[in-house]
Amino acid sequence: MNIHEYQAKDLLRGYGVAVPRGGVAFTPEEAESVARELGGPVWVVKSQIHAGGRGAGRFQDNPNGKGGVRVVKSVEEVAANAAEMLNHVLLTKQTGPAGKEVKRLYIEEGADIKRELYLGMLIDRATGRVTIIASTEGGMEIEEVAHNTPEKIVKVAVDPATGIQGYHTRKVAFALGLEGKQVGAAAKFIQAAYKAFTDLDCAIVEINPLIVTGSGDILALDAKMSFDDNALFRHKDVASLRDEAEEDPAEIEAAKHDLNYVKLDGNIGCMVNGAGLAMATMDIIKLYGAEPANFLDVGGGATKERVTAAFKLILSDSAVEGILVNIFGGIMRCDVIAEGVVAAAREVHLHVPLVVRLEGTNVDLGKKILADSGLPILSADNLDDAAKKIVAAVKKEAA
Ligand code: GDP
Ligand code: MN
Repeated sequence: MNIHEYQAKDLLRGYGVAVPRGGVAFTPEEAESVARELGGPVWVVKSQIHAGGRGAGRFQDNPNGKGGVRVVKSVEEVAANAAEMLNHVLLTKQTGPAGKEVKRLYIEEGADIKRELYLGMLIDRATGRVTIIASTEGGMEIEEVAHNTPEKIVKVAVDPATGIQGYHTRKVAFALGLEGKQVGAAAKFIQAAYKAFTDLDCAIVEINPLIVTGSGDILALDAKMSFDDNALFRHKDVASLRDEAEEDPAEIEAAKHDLNYVKLDGNIGCMVNGAGLAMATMDIIKLYGAEPANFLDVGGGATKERVTAAFKLILSDSAVEGILVNIFGGIMRCDVIAEGVVAAAREVHLHVPLVVRLEGTNVDLGKKILADSGLPILSADNLDDAAKKIVAAVKKEAA
């Protein structure tokens, strides 16, 4: 789960990470009153969307205008810029062509930027450790730095048994070219961010840019936090920060039914039990020259209701031109699945070809239920056969 910049800054501030003062605003009037409270002389009006690249982004209705992060010098300008940004669609490198509508702003005190640096923390899956990523090239996408000048990135892995130590923070501080009292300030900053990362079960904490101000202080000018969904149950306060307006409606619906659903770009909807089988199913669809419309793992204990919910979800995607159901009945019996598929196909008035491949417990009974249903369901004997059949059926419909 991702959260907004202002929420991330509030959480980090609570751990002692140095962040500028600021407040959230949902209307231009609120923006103005937050600005008055902060006092000047410089403010920054920042679009809050779950995507980066806001500074360099442009509003859809004003492609030659200013971006999603604006530095202004009066409370009147704060209000005027807030009105230009709120309820307008911002396009950035990370939003995709549809952009994202700005519903919230963060009004922050302006900072005097001397240097822009990068500091990130994530779980490196290769080592299984929280890894600090630092670079002197702040303010731009770290992926670009990694591509063009990989030597400008330093990585420091933290052993969970020792936690973060002085030598970790010193290594990062020196790599960032910090000196004197800044080394101590950076150590405090990094330790606080690391504590937030581990306490809150984060997947990513990214400070880009981390700045050195004119007076030599270190501040988080931007902040992104992403959390491990599987640990959210123990962080109710974090879970409550969810902004569903920022998420894909189909994925929200899937989560309600405990379905693991990820929308993809193809036209063949997939309903599979088990992540491994789902991956294999997507691979074989591609092997036969088509593209999966989604990844969908209905889990081991799928009920008739869950299968129906999964069907509705797949069909809510207008790109879907055919469905492949590939279920291995281990704990689940094939006859129960077949009943679920038949009921769901009836309920949703299935209008695209459907291929079902069942294997496992009570497979013959399952196939009989499909055949006796009178529905135009194509039965398949194995994965290869199933993929060929659905790809051919979709091609035939298109022709
Ligand atoms: P992003 O573009 O979505 O990553 O948004 P950021 O919060 O990183 O802001 C983009 C850029 O705006 C930063 O890299 C800074 O160069 C600039 N910026 C943000 N806040 C301030 C500020 O207080 N003062 C000045 N001068 N520039 C700022
Ligand atoms: Mn940024």
